[in-house]
Amino acid sequence: MMKKLLLRIIILLGPMSVWGTPVFDNFFTGDVLRFDYLLSGNQTSATVLQCEIKKEKIWSGSHNSLIDNLKYGTYRFQVYDNKSGELIFSKGFSPVFQEWQSTAEAKLINKAFYQVIRFPFPRKGVLLKIDKRNYNGQFSEIYSSTIDPDNYFIINENPKNIPFEKIQFSGEPTNKIDIAILAEGYTDDEMGKFMEDARRLTDSLFAVVPFSKMKDYFNVYALKTPSMESGTDIPGEHIYKNTLYNSTFYTFDISRYLTTSDMKTIHDMAAVVPYDQLIILVNSTRYGGGGFYNFVNVCTSDHNLSPKVFVHEFGHGFAGLGDEYYTSEVAYNDYYNLKVEPWEPNLTTMVNFASKWKELVDPKTPVPTPRDGKYASKVGAFEGGGYLTKGIYSPMDNCRMKSNEAPDFCPVCQKAIREVILENTK
Ligand SMILES: [Zn+2]
Repeated sequence: MMKKLLLRIIILLGPMSVWGTPVFDNFFTGDVLRFDYLLSGNQTSATVLQCEIKKEKIWSGSHNSLIDNLKYGTYRFQVYDNKSGELIFSKGFSPVFQEWQSTAEAKLINKAFYQVIRFPFPRKGVLLKIDKRNYNGQFSEIYSSTIDPDNYFIINENPKNIPFEKIQFSGEPTNKIDIAILAEGYTDDEMGKFMEDARRLTDSLFAVVPFSKMKDYFNVYALKTPSMESGTDIPGEHIYKNTLYNSTFYTFDISRYLTTSDMKTIHDMAAVVPYDQLIILVNSTRYGGGGFYNFVNVCTSDHNLSPKVFVHEFGHGFAGLGDEYYTSEVAYNDYYNLKVEPWEPNLTTMVNFASKWKELVDPKTPVPTPRDGKYASKVGAFEGGGYLTKGIYSPMDNCRMKSNEAPDFCPVCQKAIREVILENTK
């Protein structure tokens, strides 16, 4: 009876939203709106310069989780219905640009990084806003612009005809996390090797808790995108290879840091499959990788630690986990403000520990928790993390987000990953 009454009220009022949640079909088609832009600036400034807008096939994200409740990421974008002003889509992300902003180089020069954001294609006019977190952790707007979906300058082309294989298929893309693995530094003749590498590393991801228990939430596609040459750039050794996504070691002059800035080509190629996460698999025996929340994951294929790195970087790119290590060389200065709680779910400055994993700490475990081996199997608050030995605390003495020796993610990281999986497959 209540249900019928409720249904009648809904039909009578014809709401665009139910209990504050936008109704997908009222606002969006099943296609994708892709907004390409340059993010430019220096240590303190960030400016958005629009490049092009595209219509692409198959929105692969959830229809029921349009507003980002997790609020992870150093940047976010929000989409508002023009007419009602209602927020109808939002998503957090952390671009390479944001890390570059904390390097010494960003104090000296301006640079621009190519970016792509994607959201379901709107039926009517929308307002797109892009926000950046400032040093005190609050978001402030750096861009806003209206988009008319009927504008005939929105590019509506077919994607490139890239051959791909489904490594794993669990069901409809809108109900699953769709991972696209793209071949980088593999020549045409090496595509057999790429498929073997992609399968092997996918297996390594689904061997680790909680991914092992939630494999059915994921689809995985491998895209056979050939490069002219094998390998990748190693500028510190004067090695340069002509590869499709222009990946490179020595990002920010850190030898192991492997990234790609060619987001345009990556998204152009990936458009042939439904995708929520991008993994660039680089054909190399060197140690290294990089992972950026809701942006891109990069990893090499053939170092003996590649399976570990693959999982670690996906922890960044998929779940927004922070680095729990604090002894390795990084290029950042003042990356974290110790006076505010970082947004990463697995790091705390103790400014608001209750908002993090305090509830998971046994009352018998001291906080801060000494790193003397006695509490190695316990959740606590261990000083050191986020590239700092002092002032930032990690949930466990060791974790996949800290070292390659850790067999698993710590319970706090596991919980965070589970939440991201569930949030995106509602
Ligand atoms: Zn952890």
